[in-house]
Amino acid sequence: MNKQLKSMQSLPPLSFATRVKHLKQLAVVIKKNQDKIIAAISQDFSHRCTEESLLAEIMVCLDEINHTLKHIKQWVRAKTWHADWKFYPSKCSVTPQAKGVVGVMAPWNYPFNLVIEPLVAAIAAGNRVMIKPSEVTEHTAALIKDLMAEVFSPDEVYVVLGDVGVANQFSSMPLDHLLFTGSSEVGKIIMRNASEHLTPLTLELGGKSPVLIDNNYALEKAAKSIVKGKWFNAGQTCLAPDYILIEKDRIAALLDCLKQEVAKTYPDPNNNLDYSCIVNPQHQQRLQDLLKDIPAANIHTIGTPGQGQKLSPTLVVDPPLTHPIMESEIFGPILPIVSCDDLAAGIQFINQRDKPLTLYLFSNDHKIIQTVRETTQSGSLAVNETLVHFAQRNLPFGGIGNSGMGSYHGYQGFVTMSHMKSVYYQSKINFNDMVRAPFTSIKRTFISFLNR
Ligand code: NAD
Repeated sequence: MNKQLKSMQSLPPLSFATRVKHLKQLAVVIKKNQDKIIAAISQDFSHRCTEESLLAEIMVCLDEINHTLKHIKQWVRAKTWHADWKFYPSKCSVTPQAKGVVGVMAPWNYPFNLVIEPLVAAIAAGNRVMIKPSEVTEHTAALIKDLMAEVFSPDEVYVVLGDVGVANQFSSMPLDHLLFTGSSEVGKIIMRNASEHLTPLTLELGGKSPVLIDNNYALEKAAKSIVKGKWFNAGQTCLAPDYILIEKDRIAALLDCLKQEVAKTYPDPNNNLDYSCIVNPQHQQRLQDLLKDIPAANIHTIGTPGQGQKLSPTLVVDPPLTHPIMESEIFGPILPIVSCDDLAAGIQFINQRDKPLTLYLFSNDHKIIQTVRETTQSGSLAVNETLVHFAQRNLPFGGIGNSGMGSYHGYQGFVTMSHMKSVYYQSKINFNDMVRAPFTSIKRTFISFLNR
């Protein structure tokens, strides 16, 4: 692995023409192999809803490529300004430059998308790329390796397959940038590994993304959006609503709305092809364990109990706040509803915990929206809809604090994967001799003038 990195680092950045050619080829290869990609993911999950894969793995990646191809000419251009007036008529410019070899480490929940989107940004910026897909989704990982070989030479994009040991070695290499997507816990290991070589990092992590519902917002409408966002991919989404905060007297009504909406969206979830499986028995067990020690009266399972690798949509009302269900990221089809006294208490609840990847707010009141936007911190804030902010090419995507550092998507991805090099061009007319020793009286007068 290290030898491969060294060899790639000895080569020049990809030319503009090569980047464009490869991005176009990548789109063609994804379209041509769409069915194979969907089948590999479904095999890895035991079953993944085809339309979910079409939307979240294929469409989003093609959109990212198309957006990049549309704007890349403008992104790569150096931007030039006049220097500050005191240095006039010199010029300054910012020139994007490839960083070198970028590492991409991906998780299993969207195993294709979370390799391809960072790859597109890295290639657009002219980098060579080493990829480490998740070992949990091994069929998808093997397919990614094959597909990359159809588009890139091994010196341009190199795919490393392997387990956690390999992942550790991968993140310990002297890469020129590493974009890691995964859990906050593993993110800490990656940061330690990367620190050895001061490898610049983008950490796309997880955590608990809360939903806050304003007392005047229609519950049927909120439920419709929450159900879509929560049970897409059976809750195995970094952005899935993790828990809901709502005033106590509205819990019963919300529970009804959510139950009805789930029943409408996923009739008989265990025999419903629209409802995806839990990725493996270990995660199935982890999720079942999350319900331990919660009184049965507080647990509302919708549909028949889960079979095989399916886990029924489950609502949990007011679990103890010190229970693991409220302390760790759920990452599955279980959704706690937590009561709070009012909106201010809800905001306080959020602010007392780790900064989330996304905060969902359901409200039509501009004052409330402004208050939540200004008094909370999260990677993103989504108002009155779940998940779709991920698909906005003009919105940087990333967390803050425990949910990550740095961001990508669209132009922001290009910037993240580039070194934005500052260049100063001294003009022939140069007043700088006026501000250097020996400081004669005329120079002192000039400096006083500058300091007015
Ligand atoms: P994970 O952290 O277990 O694994 C991610 C990657 O890290 C994999 O490539 C794996 O090989 C590697 N890895 C695992 N253990 C390691 C170790 N001990 N040392 C070094 N490398 C190791 O995450 P996961 O279970 O695959 O994915 C779920 C997590 O990812 C959730 O927390 C979710 O919120 C987060 N996630 C975040 C985003 C985002 O964009 N912010 C997107 C998807 C998932």
